[in-house]
Amino acid sequence: MKSDIRVCGAWRDHHDRPVYTLSSTCPECGADTENSAPAPFNPEDPYGDYRRARKRRVE
Ligand SMILES: [Zn+2]
Repeated sequence: MKSDIRVCGAWRDHHDRPVYTLSSTCPECGADTENSAPAPFNPEDPYGDYRRARKRRVE
């Protein structure tokens, strides 16, 4: 499942809470929006947690 939901990149300055939109600009303040899930993450990857735990131990 793919999400195209974006969030106002300046909501901390302009809004009391995150402003979500499908547009590339905030409908309320006009600031550029950013992907609401910036970190590459596959929730369907069954080994994600295991791999992250291993990586953390190595570092
Ligand atoms: Zn905004």
